[in-house]
Amino acid sequence: MKDFSALLEEMEAYGRINRVPIINEQGLPVLLATVREKKPHRILEIGTAIGYSALLMAKEAAADVEIDTLELSEERASLAREYISRSPYSDRIRIHIGDAGENIQKLAGKYDFVFIDAAKGQYPDYFRKIYPLLTEKATVVADNVLFRGYVMGKVEYPRRFKTIVKRLREYIDLVTKSNEFATVIREDGDGLAISQRLPKE
Ligand code: SAH
Ligand code: MG
Repeated sequence: MKDFSALLEEMEAYGRINRVPIINEQGLPVLLATVREKKPHRILEIGTAIGYSALLMAKEAAADVEIDTLELSEERASLAREYISRSPYSDRIRIHIGDAGENIQKLAGKYDFVFIDAAKGQYPDYFRKIYPLLTEKATVVADNVLFRGYVMGKVEYPRRFKTIVKRLREYIDLVTKSNEFATVIREDGDGLAISQRLPKE
């Protein structure tokens, strides 16, 4: 485990230097506490980056966990593959390179945990596409839903973020108004939406 924490530190340093947007120190404990509580067996992650959150989720999930993680950038995916190969979880994590919106549709469920952390303008689309792949007790966590305070706050956002802000508001609406999910919005980090699927009546 000493090697594992050294590996994570190396990844954190790489992320800092190369500006890879891995989940931040405030958001991470919220994600990991949720994984620890739910102990999922099959996780779908949308947005691998260099594999940091995938490795940490693997550690907190059920011992037999299998993680499918989706990443557009070939460069990041190969770095992730490299880092993951040096971890105790190399046989637990599969990386799928390409556009997540397309690759989700090639996956066969069922997933009891989904972590959405890729293109913010695509969150509503991701949610609709993962829906048929969820188990009845699935949990869906989405990172960056409050995007620098632009989404729910009164902070004026730069024009270039107009679509992202609109789509994140749409995502929050989708998961909070659904009577199939109970959703909590956490303000930690860049904001996380934790949606728990409710038992059918
Ligand atoms: N979950 C990671 C961070 C992911 S950062 C962690 O916390 O460690 C978001 C990632 O989503 C980036 O690496 C980016 O390349 C990827 N991404 C952006 N658009 C995407 C798309 N359309 N399909 C798949 N991945 C995408
Ligand atoms: Mg994120």
